Amino acid sequence: MRKKIVAGNWKCNTTLQEGVALAKEVNSIVKTSDVQVILGTPFIHLTEVVKLVDNKAIAVAAQNCAAEPKGAFTGEVSAAMVKSTGAQYVILGHSERRGYYGETSEILNKKLALALENGLTPIYCCGEALDVREAGKQNEFVINQLEETIFKLSADDFKKLVIAYEPIWAIGTGKTATSDQAEDMLKTIREAIAAKYGKAIADETSILYGGSCNAKNAKELFAKPNIDGGLIGGASLKAEDFNTIVMSF
Ligand code: PEP
Repeated sequence: MRKKIVAGNWKCNTTLQEGVALAKEVNSIVKTSDVQVILGTPFIHLTEVVKLVDNKAIAVAAQNCAAEPKGAFTGEVSAAMVKSTGAQYVILGHSERRGYYGETSEILNKKLALALENGLTPIYCCGEALDVREAGKQNEFVINQLEETIFKLSADDFKKLVIAYEPIWAIGTGKTATSDQAEDMLKTIREAIAAKYGKAIADETSILYGGSCNAKNAKELFAKPNIDGGLIGGASLKAEDFNTIVMSF
């Protein structure tokens, strides 16, 4: 059975001290054996947070990694460096990275390859902007994002991924996709995976919803058959809210 996952994306929030305090609080209140909880922290927090969480229940993710393995790329953090902290996951293709830092499918393909080579599990984000949704073209837009990137992977590599559908118009806006809109897209993604890699792999792939998912709406979203959990931004910065989301299956 595919994994249920609740992953926090702290983005560019919390000093090291604040992040350590938040991770300790999450670690002390989150008690679950059937949900994989993941904390997506800033790079500089990874080593400390890995040390203080109960790693049977809580894994740690970076929010990005470099598109090159190493070398003269000032300010970059490689997949191997992320792995060396003890982090197990890396968020790739977040719409903020695509939008603010020009991450194209070509760049993402390099990052995906390096993450996988280094034994990290990519949490691969996809999702459309408001104008695409208003034009009714969201399904073809998202499937095209997958075809340009993760659908180029071998079946063995594809099986290692987690996918997060995050409509850009719902991220940080307080405007959540309805549970039906989210379910429709996740079902479309799962059907595309089945067409490409077969039903067995599609049935085993965890697909998350992200976009203003919070302690109030998580239950309704997670009740949908194709929604395997959430990628949580704002609400992951409050330990109690994050725990309520983890308990929402
Ligand atoms: C995100 O950035 O991945 C996200 C889902 O943010 P928020 O929950 O704040 O909308």
